Amino acid sequence: MEIRIDRTSSSRLPQVDFANLGFGSVFADHMFVADCLEGQWYDLRIVPFGELSMSPGLSALHYGQTIFEGMKAYRTPEGEITIFRLSDHLRRLNRSAERLCMQAIPPQVFEEGLKQLVRLDADWVPHNGSLYIRPIYFASDDQLGVHASKSYRLIIFSSPVTTYYSTNLLVQVETNHVRATDGGIGYVKTAGNYARSLSASQRARAEGFNVVLWLDSINRQFIEEYSTMNAFFVIDDVAVTPPTSGTILEGITRDSMIRLLSDNGYKVTQREIAIDEVMEAGRTGRLTEAFGTGTAAVAAPVERIHYQGEDIFLSTDHSKWPVLSFLRKRLDDIRTRQVADPYGWVSVV
Ligand SMILES: *Cc1c(COP(=O)(O)O)cnc(C)c1O
Repeated sequence: MEIRIDRTSSSRLPQVDFANLGFGSVFADHMFVADCLEGQWYDLRIVPFGELSMSPGLSALHYGQTIFEGMKAYRTPEGEITIFRLSDHLRRLNRSAERLCMQAIPPQVFEEGLKQLVRLDADWVPHNGSLYIRPIYFASDDQLGVHASKSYRLIIFSSPVTTYYSTNLLVQVETNHVRATDGGIGYVKTAGNYARSLSASQRARAEGFNVVLWLDSINRQFIEEYSTMNAFFVIDDVAVTPPTSGTILEGITRDSMIRLLSDNGYKVTQREIAIDEVMEAGRTGRLTEAFGTGTAAVAAPVERIHYQGEDIFLSTDHSKWPVLSFLRKRLDDIRTRQVADPYGWVSVV
């Protein structure tokens, strides 16, 4: 499938302050756009990043058939550009699409569009960070009937970033709202899961925290995940993360970390973990590390956990967190091709 390329006539790159990027507020010069009507893909194009016109009847805005991905491109010391676990991100995007009754995206459309986009905007991959790539995919019918849309639009755009969380996680365990329920869409990377998390996040922030930890909807006891990250706890030298049962987003960072730990002599298990167990391990000093994992943050260390009026504080000397240190370094080395990639996770574009 041919991709038409319309290059920008004036790059915004010279205006970017790469020393102060923050997260997701600066966008690279171009975006990839593709449309689909009744399963037929057409008008694949790379155009200057900018506004698109849309009808107020756009069905995604009304009924929420809208999903996304978050992935990263890295610059190696040799100057190559790599993308981490490209096909796994597409696989997850299509799992999300299936659950929300959306047309599947063919690999050729996604991979070619993405690779050509990243090649064109290669100068936007920071030397001190990575290029965060945000594919969005949404229903684009222009009518108000409630049913699966016949037309869809895929847009891929990108943003140069340093690291998402510059501060440690100050965790409030949420005991009122729930993020996901059995049989629902917790595993889908969709806007609705974020919309329902915002109120608790805002409340947590007002009380001096910066992230919410969600519990299961039935017992209000088993840990699920953070709003944007999966959760790991190191208790008695074993890294524990909850199993992905359908209510938890199956993080690609989470999966990478489980593989790296188990292949390098670390103890790691996926099992249900109660908040009571974490608090007890914290009280008795057996909780030695806790972190959130995701593409944006990679691995964000926890400093404080607040639950039912009690606080657990963890050491902030992260050089003494062996699991976190190992994971950060090994992942970074794989993505920048400093060590072998036995898993086939890295694509050079
Ligand atoms: C994207 C996301 C994650 C992390 O997934 P990665 O593939 O590791 O980036 C975790 N939880 C939620 C709710 C997410 O949306």
